[in-house]
Amino acid sequence: MITIKSNREIELMKQAGNIVYQTHQYLKPFLKEGITTEEIDHLAEQFIRSKGATPSFKGYDGFPGSVCTSINNQVVHGIPGKTKLKNGDIISIDIGACYKGFHGDSAWTYAIGEVDEEKKYLMEHTEKALFEGLKQVKPGNRIGDIGYAIEQYALKHHLGVVKELVGHGVGTDVHEDPEVPNYGKAGTGPLLKKGMVIAVEPMLNLGTADIYMLDDDWTIETADGKPSAHYEHTVAVTEDGYQILTGE
Ligand code: MG
Ligand code: MG
Repeated sequence: MITIKSNREIELMKQAGNIVYQTHQYLKPFLKEGITTEEIDHLAEQFIRSKGATPSFKGYDGFPGSVCTSINNQVVHGIPGKTKLKNGDIISIDIGACYKGFHGDSAWTYAIGEVDEEKKYLMEHTEKALFEGLKQVKPGNRIGDIGYAIEQYALKHHLGVVKELVGHGVGTDVHEDPEVPNYGKAGTGPLLKKGMVIAVEPMLNLGTADIYMLDDDWTIETADGKPSAHYEHTVAVTEDGYQILTGE
C-alpha cells in the first residue's frame, strides 16, 4: 500500500532526513586512510543517537551494523568490520535514521584520498543519474519515468545498472511501497501523487550489471570485481516536483 503523508508528517520526515544528512556531513572528515568500517559505524551510531534518533538499519532483518559500508566492488549492504580504508578506495555509506517514528534514508559514495579516473567517472555519473531520476518526480508522472531516466543516463555513460535492488517508499517503515527500480519503461507503474515519500537510489557499476551475494548473506558485490557507486536521497512529492528530505 502506498501511503500519502500529511504536511505534518512530511515536516517530521524532514527532521529525520536532516539527521541522516548531518550524519553524512559529520562522518566526512573521518573518511581517511586507516579508519576501519567498524569505527565509521560507531561514529555514525553515536551521532544519530545524540540527535535523539535511532539507526534504522541496526537489527533490520538482523543486520549487525548501524550503517552499511560498501567498499570498491561492494555494491550495497557491506557489514562494518575490521577492514581499514586505503588511499584510492571508494566507500558507499548508506545511513538510515528514525526520528519520532519516521525514517530518512540516504546513501553517498566517498573517495578516500586520491582515486583513479575510472572511479571518479563512476561517482560523478552515478550522482548525476540520481538527479536525472529525481527530475521525473512530480505529480502526474509514474514510477517508471524515474527508472527510465536513470537507466537511459547510465547506458549513455556505459555503466551497469543493478536491477536486483531498488528504491522504495519511506515513512513509518524504512522500506515501504512502492518499489522504485533504477530501470523501466516511461509512463508505466504507480502514479506519483503529492504527499508520497520515496527513496531514489541508483546503484551503478563500472562494469557489467551482474552482482552476487557473499556468504555473510548481506554484502552484495559486482560479479566482475569492478567498482560500484550508490547515491540516494529520500524525497517528498510536492505540488509541482519534489523536495529533498535528506538534505540541509
Ligand atoms: Mg539507503
Ligand atoms: Mg533505501
